Amino acid sequence: MNQSEIALPVVLVIDDDQTLHLWAKWHLSAAGFEIVSAINGHEGIDAFKKHSPDIILVDIEMPEMDGFATCSGIRSVPGGSNTPLLMVTGTEDAERIEKSYLAGATDFIVKPVNWQVLIHRLRYMVKASKVFLQLERSESRLSKAQQMARLGHWELNIVDNKLYWSDEIYKIFQQDRGSFTPDQAGFLNLVHASDRLYVEEGFDKVIKNGTALTIEYRIITGTGKQHFVGQQIEIVKNQKNELVALTGTIQDITERKDHENQVRHLAYYDGITGLPNRTCFLEILSTALELAKRNERRFAVLFLDLDGFKGINDSYGHHVGDLLLKEISRRLTEGLRRSDITSRYLTHQYYSADVARLGGDEFTILLNELTQPEDAAIAARNIHQWISEPILLENQKIYSGASIGIALFPQDGEDSETLLKNADVAMYHAKKKGKGNYQFFHDSMNIKAKKRMEMENYMHQAVTNNELRLYYQPVVNAVSSQLIGAEALMRWESPQLGFLYPDDFIPLAEENGMILTFGEWAIHEACRQLKDWQQRDMGHLSIAVNLSSLQFNQISFVPMVKAILNQYQVDPAFLVFELTETVIMADSEKILGTLLELKEMGIKLSIDDFGTGYSSLSYLKRFPLDSIKIDQSFIKELTSNAEDAAIVTAILALARALNLNTIAEGVETAQQKRFLENTTCGAIQGNLFAKPMPMAEFRKYWHSH
Ligand code: C2E
Ligand code: CA
Ligand code: CA
Repeated sequence: MNQSEIALPVVLVIDDDQTLHLWAKWHLSAAGFEIVSAINGHEGIDAFKKHSPDIILVDIEMPEMDGFATCSGIRSVPGGSNTPLLMVTGTEDAERIEKSYLAGATDFIVKPVNWQVLIHRLRYMVKASKVFLQLERSESRLSKAQQMARLGHWELNIVDNKLYWSDEIYKIFQQDRGSFTPDQAGFLNLVHASDRLYVEEGFDKVIKNGTALTIEYRIITGTGKQHFVGQQIEIVKNQKNELVALTGTIQDITERKDHENQVRHLAYYDGITGLPNRTCFLEILSTALELAKRNERRFAVLFLDLDGFKGINDSYGHHVGDLLLKEISRRLTEGLRRSDITSRYLTHQYYSADVARLGGDEFTILLNELTQPEDAAIAARNIHQWISEPILLENQKIYSGASIGIALFPQDGEDSETLLKNADVAMYHAKKKGKGNYQFFHDSMNIKAKKRMEMENYMHQAVTNNELRLYYQPVVNAVSSQLIGAEALMRWESPQLGFLYPDDFIPLAEENGMILTFGEWAIHEACRQLKDWQQRDMGHLSIAVNLSSLQFNQISFVPMVKAILNQYQVDPAFLVFELTETVIMADSEKILGTLLELKEMGIKLSIDDFGTGYSSLSYLKRFPLDSIKIDQSFIKELTSNAEDAAIVTAILALARALNLNTIAEGVETAQQKRFLENTTCGAIQGNLFAKPMPMAEFRKYWHSH
């Protein structure tokens, strides 16, 4: 067994009267106490230090140092304040009793001592003091734990409005107990101004509902710093079930909040520009919506898409693209902060979050509290101005622009998703009008946008569902009218949308990139057809396939073509690629490389719609071309407009000089044909001979000619 468990309670007896010591030993030992004796005050204090008794008996009347002095002496010894101490006195006069308590005595007994009563008293006092000690220890442990958790306790008396704060709360608020007496008003004054209403509402709620609540808010500490605290509020009722007080804890949660904010930042802000992202903007928007609905206010959502960002990214690299986005974001935030329209809202909580980056080159702007729609237009014009100033990035002057769509609350949408979507739709129309425009949303746009979206949806399945067709339009020798080949023209037989011509779906496919899939399919289909022809008696006929500039800029384009030629094992000399002038002009060096590779493979190259674009003579010489197709617009007026006739003649002469074949497209009349017969034009294509047709018909056409 452990020593302490068998240890008896120790009584220290301090008395100059030896008989008391004898009696004490006699009675108290028998009752299970251990006795330590001291015959004067000094000895008593030393014995206290040495033995740490559980209880002390002190005689008042002693020479040199009386009982009062001895008691005070023990109380001032470290650890001496809590041990129960009984004064032993001969007389029971009031003055002595008063003096005993003042000196720190716990109680007193009168001589002659009734030992039986004293034994019970001592036992009780020892037990009580142990419990008290334990309580004190656990309290100090609790307060240490609270200190560590930066958790303090408070209590508000509802009746007299007095507020009690534990030491820890003073520390959290960095207030001095001496100079700051807390009451509800004084406390609220320390709460961050923006959070005061919220805190007051929290207290009101607890009082009204009678249920506990935890609120988190910001405070400004005595040193002027902002800290986050979490406050728990509970109610205290008296026996009559009346609310008398509120109580609870306050904890400093700044560290946790900082951490949460970091996480939040990652989830809510764009990494490149530091602007709010889509998620964050939608939240800002819903807050704005609620406010605007409550206060019957208007606001505008601007959807901004940079013009030609992709081009900048492609030609200068992503690094410059990122820098550009940063610069645009800076111009937008600073511009809006400066501008008349938002300056009156500088105090608005969200003013800094008015600009967001949705992704890519898309930005959104929330214009709060609009007085009139025209304000949004002014903002859009300002934005254009800020953005169009040249941007110097890595020693290069870059020019940027933007198309802006505007949706207004309430007329253009009642929820954030709709407003954002409609602003996007309006932006799309602004872009359609030409770069650097802005456009207010209009209901009719949604119908068009809906159709577009519908088409876009179906488009994704067009190839896998085998809905695309190639129609073939005969190309004939201008003089002999002999069939020499065909141009493959795409059609889309959509079960949902009907029979579609390229003009209906190619622009959209170019916009959303589907043209890459469509175009690859067209090359496949044309080669499959060529193979079929080459296995029949149609092996000398060529097929011309139209290419989009997007395809041409694909790095994988040449390998893809190679793979297809390989797969079908066709003679590439009968495959023609038709490119427009703009494709060639875009990035001459890169394009030249691709053209040379294709040429090397044996594929024929043709310039489509010649005369409508740059018609630069120099590139005709530079690029390895085989033929040019004179645009229909010149053929149309060939016989009625002398100027067009002159142009066609000039083009033909030029082609001859450069040793290029020529094809005239859109030949509809016999006169046009006759005119061309008498020139150096090599081939003719047009409705005069045949419209584009499916392969089965084309085969019949070939056999009948
Ligand atoms: P394009 O390359 O200039 O093709 C000639 C267009 O003129 C075809 O229209 C053809 O049907 C039409 N045409 C031919 N002869 C006559 C005529 O005598 N009179 C009139 N008024 N028109 C005639 P289509 O088939 O509607 O194609 C329109 C455009 O769509 C094409 O113009 C081409 O730029 C594009 N396209 C067609 N198929 C493809 C394709 O597979 N890929 C790509 N990227 N574009 C394609
Ligand atoms: Ca063409
Ligand atoms: Ca053409």
